[in-house]
Amino acid sequence: MNILVINAGSSSLKYQLLNPKTEQVLAKGLCERIGIDGKFTYKPEVEGKQALKAIDVAMPTHAEAIKTVLNTLIDPENGVIASMSEIDAVGHRVVHGGEKFACSVLINDDVMKAIEDCIPLAPLHNPANITGIKACEEVMPGVPMVAVFDTAFHQTMPPRAFTYAIPYEYYTEDSIRRYGFHGTSHYYVSRRAAEILGLPIEVMKIVTCHLGNGSSVDAIAGGKSIETSMGFTPLDGLPMGTRCGSIDVSIIEYLMENRNMSIDEVMSTLNKKSGMLGVSGVSSDFRDLEAAAAEGNERAKLAIDMFCYKTHKRIGSAAAAMNGVDVLIFTAGVGENSPELREKIASGLDFMGIKIDHGKNQCRGEERIISTDDSRVKVMVIPTNEELVIAQDTAALVSGK
Ligand code: ADP
Repeated sequence: MNILVINAGSSSLKYQLLNPKTEQVLAKGLCERIGIDGKFTYKPEVEGKQALKAIDVAMPTHAEAIKTVLNTLIDPENGVIASMSEIDAVGHRVVHGGEKFACSVLINDDVMKAIEDCIPLAPLHNPANITGIKACEEVMPGVPMVAVFDTAFHQTMPPRAFTYAIPYEYYTEDSIRRYGFHGTSHYYVSRRAAEILGLPIEVMKIVTCHLGNGSSVDAIAGGKSIETSMGFTPLDGLPMGTRCGSIDVSIIEYLMENRNMSIDEVMSTLNKKSGMLGVSGVSSDFRDLEAAAAEGNERAKLAIDMFCYKTHKRIGSAAAAMNGVDVLIFTAGVGENSPELREKIASGLDFMGIKIDHGKNQCRGEERIISTDDSRVKVMVIPTNEELVIAQDTAALVSGK
């Protein structure tokens, strides 16, 4: 069985074709600048097939982008399948499922309506995801499709964790609550940790740190998300590449009055010009920040220090929510690839039984236990694999399991 996994943004579309059983990836890639001009990247993972890197292909719509993907996948020379009939189903990443979806679902008219109803909660993401689904329906009629939600895994959070201390009717009437994001990633790495350690997830207390451009820390007790750092939107929680993370909301009013900024300008600044970029003035990319800090740039150092300190505190708070922690996991771009930041984040957590082994920690992008032998908490690096979860959920729903 082959599943096509689609992650559609407003002008981009990531795709991956994989076999959810063998976990073999056949090809993956990216369509960018959809609706502008069109750049297409294709990476076949089958020997003897040629890759394409950011080549010009006109993609006026998402449907054209999907057609480009399909034509390339079945291309006699460099394709990885013989025909479209070898694609059994499509799994779509959908950012927001509100309170309606606590798990993945087969897409039908009612589900589409429910995803549309969640647009006010994710005005930038859900419309793009819907466009991706509609484009596939147009180009691949009759192929079953599944929606996998970033928010679904966090639906197990109890009310005390997801309720904001504002008038209660804002929750009941306006759906304002903590939702949490990166759910598919937190789910994957927690399951994988249990598998690697050979322990039943039902008895484990796991803290997962998804640290990338966007970052969140999750507390997973008995396999269920019970507390997470992202909130009503992905702006909450840790400071990120360009997002501010949790701040005193009064700052918004203060900026509007003192700098004569409109609410749009303030929100755009908090989303796109804050975080690592805002503090350092250098970049939102952690590699640039580490390089600038090594050259003595004080603001780059401060941005890194601040990120590590806040992540460090969040780990403590996630552990407090579970009255303990057995496993601490690092994943995503920074979590998988920066030994320096992992060590900085975890230093001073030995009071909780967390001790990183400096030697074992010198790894990038591979599964590894990086704690010392006498560390009570196992500290692990686990590369995330959201596409695999999407493909496996899709396969299970399509085959009715
Ligand atoms: P996204 O949230 O967009 O999926 P990723 O998980 O790919 O992001 O993470 C991107 C971040 O990971 C970037 O800030 C990048 O600098 C950082 N990163 C990637 N490789 C390294 C590395 N070797 N060292 C430090 N940071 C890295």
